[in-house]
Order: sequence, then C-alpha cells, then structure tokens
Amino acid sequence: MFTLPPLPWAENALAPVISANTISFHYGKHHKTYVDNLNNLAKGTDYEGATLEKIISETAGKADKAGLFNNAAQVWNHTFYWHSMKPSGGGKPTGKLATMIDAAFGSYDNFKKELSSTSVSQFGSGWGWLVVEGGTLKVVKTPNAEVPFTRGQKPLLTIDVWEHAYYLDQQNKRAAYVDAVIEKLLDWDFAARNLG
Ligand code: MN
Repeated sequence: MFTLPPLPWAENALAPVISANTISFHYGKHHKTYVDNLNNLAKGTDYEGATLEKIISETAGKADKAGLFNNAAQVWNHTFYWHSMKPSGGGKPTGKLATMIDAAFGSYDNFKKELSSTSVSQFGSGWGWLVVEGGTLKVVKTPNAEVPFTRGQKPLLTIDVWEHAYYLDQQNKRAAYVDAVIEKLLDWDFAARNLG
C-alpha cells in the first residue's frame, strides 16, 4: 500500500505565497487522490509493493501503463515538491550549489530568470525543475506527470505549475507564484542533500 507522506511543515507555513487553503486542496485532495488511484491500479499487479521509482521507470512512455505512470509519478512529484519548499526559504544558495550555479548560468540572477521563464513557459500542466546532468546544473520543464530522472537527469528542486498549485491564491498569475516560490520558499538545504 502506498500512503500519503506527511507534509514537512504546517499547512499555513508557506502563507502568504501559498495559502493553507491551497495546501489543503493540493495535498489533502490532489496528492491524496494520486495515492488512492495508484493503490487501485497497482492492486493485484506486479507493481503491488514496488517502489515508486521502480513503477515510474518501468512504465514511462508505455501507453498501456499510462495510468500507473501518471499516478505514481504524481505521487513522487508532489512529495518532492513539498520538500522543495520551506518557510523563510528562497534566496541564494551557498557552498557547492552557489559555485555550480555561477558555472552553469553565469550568476544567481541569471539562474533565477531561467528557472522562472522555463517554469512559466511550460504550456499547460507540468513542472519546472533544477536538475543535475553530467555534473552540470540545468533548468528543465516537464509536461503533466513527467519526471526528469527517466531521462538521466537528477532532480534537485521542483516547482509545480499545474493551475491547482496557484489558482486559488494568484488566479492566472503563474509568474507571480513562480517568482515568489523562487524568492521566498525554495529549500536549498533539500537541493544540497539531493546533490549529495
Ligand atoms: Mn500539483
């Protein structure tokens, strides 16, 4: 059985950027529904009891396994997204990540612009990501439930740009939501742990 992992902070901890109301629906309804759907789809199959990573890797790109892929990946993505943010986060990272950002993007400000524009320009639902590939940091976007690690990219941070992530608080203003997440919420300690 897959279970809904606990949030790393209280539902109101990310306000005013992300309200308790948004978290309540996004975590309590959307994320939970992906968990419930995954349990129903995996029941009685070889994937009952498998790890999320195994299900995602083995079902990616397979049309007859799209339901399993979408729900497993959305469970994984949302847990990763909650941990990508913390109250009083954001700003510039330090140490190895700061050096790697300067090497890959020229400056923190350039990185911030690229993460923002890439996330904002995802057409329709999806995700903006900071990943590492071949020892270099990259900013990428994925549509719907897709994850970078099926393409050999290791995720460090993500921003959910599905409308359910911001519509209750910012309505159509995706850029305002994305920029506020980057400036006030990103958890660079989580990114550093993922970088290893
Ligand atoms: Mn979402």
